[in-house]
Amino acid sequence: MSKVALVTGGTRGIGKAISAGLKDAGYKVAANYGGNDDAAKACADELGIDVFKWDVGDFAACKDGVGEVEAKLGPVGVLVNNAGIVRDGTLHKMTPDMWEDVIRVDLDSIFNMCRNVIEGMRDRRYGRIINISSINGQKGQMGQTNYSAAKAGVIGFSKALGVESARKGITVNVVAPGYIDTDMLAGVPENVLESIVSTIPVGRLGRAEEIAHCVAFLADEKAGFITGSVLTANGGQYIANG
Ligand code: NDP
Repeated sequence: MSKVALVTGGTRGIGKAISAGLKDAGYKVAANYGGNDDAAKACADELGIDVFKWDVGDFAACKDGVGEVEAKLGPVGVLVNNAGIVRDGTLHKMTPDMWEDVIRVDLDSIFNMCRNVIEGMRDRRYGRIINISSINGQKGQMGQTNYSAAKAGVIGFSKALGVESARKGITVNVVAPGYIDTDMLAGVPENVLESIVSTIPVGRLGRAEEIAHCVAFLADEKAGFITGSVLTANGGQYIANG
């Protein structure tokens, strides 16, 4: 099995913690990112991993990017689709661009990336794919029809690909985080954040490292009987049944 792990959006926030966790677990880690060169360089220097810039919403760029990673590090054994964005607004104010941007980066990316690694994984009869969804794809969230649709789509996609790939030694699972303390929450007003935390039974926001721990568990070779599952990590805020 290949000990190369590719993490999209792997240079900041949850993705950076995932990159660090997989490095600690003995993987050669390639962290993709979209545009923030300074954060990527800082991450590469801090973790001692390779970083690669491309837009996960662009199929051709993903094909080239995976090719570049594999030429440098070897075949991808673990793919973590973590890159994501929000463009919040209630539907009556949402523009087509807000809808399309989120569907493109948060959902099309899952096809773009999986499609470009799946043939190699099938040939090698081994793979671990972990897709990052969200509590808001499970329960729906005001102001996030675009994001909730994309993140629910990630779950359906992963269940289907899990079934398709099981005989080939490839598992496909989802981690659905609750509210995690990263830059993504930077735009949320303090009073809104306080009211969100008041609905989390654990009584605090989650930490990126706690999501990284879920990913490392599912990425392990010993997790071969787990596929098509959704691991929720949300401090008890929403108890989902799938
Ligand atoms: P951040 O905003 O902190 O980081 C996002 C990462 O995705 C960055 O590395 C960014 O790259 C990358 N990225 C964004 N767009 C693209 C693109 N088009 N192509 C390639 N890379 C891109 O997000 P979080 O760490 O908070 O979130 C990570 C994942 O977890 C997302 O999928 C998010 O939806 C999900 N999630 C987050 C929650 C939270 O509370 N934070 C809750 C539930 C789910 P760059 O640095 O170049 O901008």
